[in-house]
Amino acid sequence: MDELVKMLDKNLSYLSHEYDDDVFYIFVASNRKGVTCPFCGHKSTRAHSTYHKSFQDLPIQEKKVIIILANRKMFCDNLECNHTTFAERFDFIDDKSKKTKRLEDEILDISLNCSTVKASQILRENVVDIGRSTISNLLKKKGISQSTKKK
Ligand SMILES: [Zn+2]
Repeated sequence: MDELVKMLDKNLSYLSHEYDDDVFYIFVASNRKGVTCPFCGHKSTRAHSTYHKSFQDLPIQEKKVIIILANRKMFCDNLECNHTTFAERFDFIDDKSKKTKRLEDEILDISLNCSTVKASQILRENVVDIGRSTISNLLKKKGISQSTKKK
């Protein structure tokens, strides 16, 4: 399981997992020693607090996957920085997103080849709970308009 988590980001470590009928919950934490402040580039090793952040990833064995990350809030000790704390960030997910980038790519792949109605049907059955509006927003975010995609 740790290998699986490392494929998402080598800075993550597997903690534990649970599952029910159709969802896998994977608990992970960061293994970075120092975290770079996104505002000033200073490296911080002092954690302020930890909070849980959950998001969806690609399915495993036909189960939906929810990853629960113990995300750290760090102190920035650079006196010249105008932020005293910042949240640790990862490349595999956009800051405000509830889905990993590779899951978004998968959704886009499926959505580009059929209507949003059909796509949400396929996705709900196989990958992720998603509605038409979410698909439309994703397409919009990537600059793909409904009219240019294949019908
Ligand atoms: Zn800073």
